[in-house]
This record gives sequence, C-alpha cells and structure tokens, in this order.
Amino acid sequence: MAGMLASLVYLPQLAFAWGADGHQTVGAIADAMLVGTKAGEKVKSILGNRSLELVSVWADCAKGISPEKDYAYTVPGRYPECQPFENPEDIKALADFVRRNQSNCNPAADEESCHKQYHYSDVSLQHDHYKTGYTGTSDHDVVHAIQASIDVLSGKPAPAPFSIKDPREALELLTHYVGDIHQPLHVGSIYLDADGKIINPDDTQYDKTSNTIGGNALNCPCGNLHSLWDDVPLNFKRGRMNESLAKKAKTVAVDAAPIQEWPVLWADESIRNARLVFGGAQFSQRTPNVKGNNWSIALPLAYEKTMYNVKEDALTKAGAHLAQVLQAIWPE
Ligand SMILES: [Zn+2]
Repeated sequence: MAGMLASLVYLPQLAFAWGADGHQTVGAIADAMLVGTKAGEKVKSILGNRSLELVSVWADCAKGISPEKDYAYTVPGRYPECQPFENPEDIKALADFVRRNQSNCNPAADEESCHKQYHYSDVSLQHDHYKTGYTGTSDHDVVHAIQASIDVLSGKPAPAPFSIKDPREALELLTHYVGDIHQPLHVGSIYLDADGKIINPDDTQYDKTSNTIGGNALNCPCGNLHSLWDDVPLNFKRGRMNESLAKKAKTVAVDAAPIQEWPVLWADESIRNARLVFGGAQFSQRTPNVKGNNWSIALPLAYEKTMYNVKEDALTKAGAHLAQVLQAIWPE
C-alpha cells in the first residue's frame, strides 16, 4: 500500500508540461529566428524536413513508452502532437531513448524514471538562485539536462548519467527542455508544512511530505495548479500568436556569460517568476488522500492577468533563448 501511495504522488507530473501548444510555440519562435542563419542550416541538416516546432514535443512523447510493457508505445492516437512519431522507426527511437535513460540515474523507489526527471527541478522559492545541491535539484534535473544536450551538440560526450546518442536526439531534447525550464513551476516550487505554512526545506531536515511537487499537490477551484500553468492562454494556441511573439523574441538580449551558464540563469529567472505564481496565494491545511498529500490554494483576484503576462514573457524568452543557444553553438 505504501508503495502504491508513493507512486501515485508522482502521477500528476506525467501531465505534459506547457501542453503541446506551449512547446510548439517555443519551437516555432526559434524556427522563425533561425531562418537564413548558419544555425538554421545546421538544424535542417540534423532534422531533415522536420522543424523545431514539430520535434519540440518529442521528449514528452517518449513518456508514452512503457518499460513495464517491454518498452512498447502504449498511447497511439491519444496525443495528436505525437502522431508524427507514431511509426515503427520513430517508436524504435523513442523506446531506445527511454531504455537508455530509465534507471541510469539510480532513481529512489518513490522517484520517477530518469528521463521523466530531466524535465524539471523543484527549487524552494526562498532561494534567489538555482544551485545544485538544494532540495529539488539533482545531477539529472532540467538544468543539467540542457547542459548535457548542449555538450552533445557541441561535439562532446553527454555527461553521466545522461545517455544522448547523437546530435539529433540532443536537438530534440534541447528544444523541449528549454521550453520546460521557462515554465516557472518546472523550476521553482513551494514547500508547505501540515498547517499550510511556507517552509524552506534547506533550513531543516528535509521532510518529503512538504513537497508540493511543482504545484501538482495544490488544488484551486480551477483545478490543479501545475496544469493551470502548463496550459497556454487561448490566443496563444495553435500558433495564433507565433508571429508577434517571434517579433518580440528578436529583441531579447544575448547574455554575455558562457553558454554552459545560461541554463542556470534561465532557472534563476523562472524562480523569480515562480514567486509571482504564488504571490498573494493562501494555503489550507494539508489533506492526505489517495493521491498523496494535498493542499487547497486560494489565488488572488488579478491572477488571470499575472498568469497571462508571465506566460507571454516566458514563451517569448524560451523561443529566443533556444535560437540564441543554437547560434552560439553554430556561429555565423
Ligand atoms: Zn517536459
């Protein structure tokens, strides 16, 4: 029974981050920015006739591979965005990636398989900066996953524990994780005690029950907080805003730091945005139920507007940063 509860705690994290729309928007912005550049040509030589927009969801589609069913793809037809990969050759590639990245990080009994952990970190909001070693970070979190993908695209081997077999896989992963790292709740998390009081898990002995799992354990009348943030506003959907976002993305300044430091800077920004996610929020006492620990969250009145602004900014920057990192790897 205890084992079952533990696995259920992590179930909501299976929700596709940003939703497919958000990831595709990030890929589309980068596609637009790379037209006519050397990096754009490199992308084409690696992906063939597939765009960054199309492969942006590949790492989420890999979650459709079931190790317990002999690495079969068990969700055909369920996710329209995965349809381009639902053929024998691509399914083989997805299964091969999952096989190599299933237990290579030695997940604890209550942790997800490794490749699912590559999509996020859970840094407590009291910190101004991301630092490896904080509760909710690991050597295989989203910051390290981006760094590993950059390494492979730069011609270096992937650092342990990652297994990234070639530039194609690295580019598919990078495109996705750059989207994830800009989703505030994929980097920052709030930790609560049984009374719903905010705590810093790095101040005391870390108690696993205080982890709200990137907002997955928080429920508002609108549903699950993490899902609320994964969903993009209606007018961003199906590429409707891509052109105006791409225009904005071109004005995002390129950071002077070495590119290996960029993922940490992006994480820092997401932690700051995560504070906006929780600004003015109030929490109930913890209610343990079959889905694990849960708290109710009451959101302030102007939340819709805050959320819209943060999402627009995050999607724009994610697209810009993806294009910038590819141009830094393959300069003119
Ligand atoms: Zn993801």
